[in-house]
Amino acid sequence: DDKKLYSPKVMKYILDKYGFKFSKSLGQNFLIDGNIINNIAETAELDENSGVIEIGPGFGTLTQVLCSKAKKVVAIEVDKSLEKVHKETLDYDNIKIIYEDFMKVDVVKLIDEEFQGMDVKIVANLPYYITTPIIMKILEERYKISKIVVMVQKEVAERLNSTAGSKEYGAITLAVNYRADTRIAMIVPNTVFMPRPKVDSAVISFDILDKPRIQVLDENMLFAVIKASFGQRRKTLLNGLSNNLKLPKEQIKMVLERAGIDPGVRGETLNLQQFGDIADEIIKLSN
Ligand code: SAM
Repeated sequence: DDKKLYSPKVMKYILDKYGFKFSKSLGQNFLIDGNIINNIAETAELDENSGVIEIGPGFGTLTQVLCSKAKKVVAIEVDKSLEKVHKETLDYDNIKIIYEDFMKVDVVKLIDEEFQGMDVKIVANLPYYITTPIIMKILEERYKISKIVVMVQKEVAERLNSTAGSKEYGAITLAVNYRADTRIAMIVPNTVFMPRPKVDSAVISFDILDKPRIQVLDENMLFAVIKASFGQRRKTLLNGLSNNLKLPKEQIKMVLERAGIDPGVRGETLNLQQFGDIADEIIKLSN
């Protein structure tokens, strides 16, 4: 905190010194508000046993606070032109910076190698162009982590945090619901970034469940059923499932009957348990 990296003046001075240019396509909007940065770190509930993976450290304002609170931080940044900047802004003993696309990192291996015995959490102000793929990667690859705290677009936070039947409800809502309890920690105005994004943001916190929320026979089938049901929004469940899973309507009818679900309803009205029941009936049918 002594360096007050989040002061826009200091940030501009250092970035100019290294000839850094903001990349819009990499979603580079850096935080310039100390309170918001501290709030994100507090939401992550870090202590001396915490290991943190940060996606996209950018200039390093949030990273600096994470380093001061956690045992170790591994930051993954795709923009190698920030390396010179980091030499100045992130001079800490407990940080490792990897210059790579997060989507290409073997995170399971990374956790194994870098965070033995630590309580691992993911903390990030995410690049907005790739928010959903990043969150799906984290959920599908099942890391040994206890928490995710990320800043995303406000609309995305609402979708992640929504419930069955609401208009924001989607396949990703269910994927999240299967593995975590979510909570919107704060709404963040666009004025706290340099440069300012067009939309407001929100910080969302995911507490990863010890066990998935429901038990199913085959997790891949659960995800396939969820994706198939949301694939064509205005279609009935019967048509959506039979088209996308390429199964005859007669079979799907039988599956839905056994699961006790009306074939005329739309996917967005069903809850996680009902998707689980459908997935299990399909598996039973093929056995
Ligand atoms: N954490 C900084 C902050 O809060 O000020 C920067 C946040 S900025 C919204 C997103 C950061 O993610 C940028 O530094 C950008 O270069 C980086 N980034 C974009 N795509 C990435 C990817 N695929 N993998 C890793 N980092 C990425």
